[in-house]
Amino acid sequence: MQLRQGFDGTVGNTPLIRLEGLSAETGCEILGKAEFLNPGGSVKDRAALWMVREHERTGALAPGGTVVEGTAGNTGIGLVHVCNARGYRCIIYMPDNQSREKVALLETLGAEVRQVPVVPYKDPMNYQKQAGRFAESLPGAVWANQFDNTANRRAHEEGTGPEIWAQTDGRLDAFVAATGTGGTLAGVSRYLKAQRPDIRTVLADPMGSALYAWVKTGEATMSKGPSITEGIGNSRVTENLAGTPLDDAVQVGDQDMVDMVYRQMHEDGWFFGSSTGINLCAAVQVAKQLGPGHTIVTILCDGGGRYQSRLFNPEFLAEKGLKIPRD
Ligand code: PMP
Repeated sequence: MQLRQGFDGTVGNTPLIRLEGLSAETGCEILGKAEFLNPGGSVKDRAALWMVREHERTGALAPGGTVVEGTAGNTGIGLVHVCNARGYRCIIYMPDNQSREKVALLETLGAEVRQVPVVPYKDPMNYQKQAGRFAESLPGAVWANQFDNTANRRAHEEGTGPEIWAQTDGRLDAFVAATGTGGTLAGVSRYLKAQRPDIRTVLADPMGSALYAWVKTGEATMSKGPSITEGIGNSRVTENLAGTPLDDAVQVGDQDMVDMVYRQMHEDGWFFGSSTGINLCAAVQVAKQLGPGHTIVTILCDGGGRYQSRLFNPEFLAEKGLKIPRD
């Protein structure tokens, strides 16, 4: 029998998919790691599982305990699945500008969601800082702390990276991904560079983030935003991202991202979220830089169902000055 062992055993080991339209257009192999097929529906299931296991290993999290996190959504969704599978309570702080699908899903799954006003990271009322303070005040609670807890990065150094290496037989030229916490990009890049230092690692950034400038100049200076993307871009370099071996960064605007996700839907049958749109645009940019005959791997972070009220809502797009491409 070929079985996966329960919830934990179903996280990771996702397929690596050849994106046919983009590969044909660029003459490169554009490959996407299908993280939307994780049981909680996104790349963040990996980080959620690794962080919970780490808190269990240190003894901070024990039966009857609570996991608290500040998250734009997908980490919370992963965490509440993992908590349900283990009997923990799950409390999520999130900025109040996130898609309502993600909030509703978190609540359906049994998380206690606390939506708080959007304020910069340096403000003590920032959602991440509120989560940290609340966890400290509650006996038996831990703060998952996805931004600076490097168990997040390890999920990708021990899982996603080795899987990509095995699935391509080590024959890839570049890895490109957008980052929120940095866990995915940093973990995969560290692993791949340790196998073959000539694999090009590239950060993809939406507008309204400081990471493109950080890679290009060493200074984390914000670019002009905002962006309608969710879960990616950052104003600071997290513990997970710090020290990542990166060769380059590319910037992708929202209209290109919108064009990409609609094109993937109409031409190739996919239904992807906004960060995947950024990743695919960035993969095409890298393919054009390298020229035909190269293999570029990126991440298919989550599905479009989480963004129906925004990215797939013509009125919302019109309000933001974004156009749906004609088919
Ligand atoms: N895409 C989506 C949809 C996400 O929710 C996240 C996580 N915030 C990312 C990409 C980025 O992943 P990471 O946190 O590992 O950088």
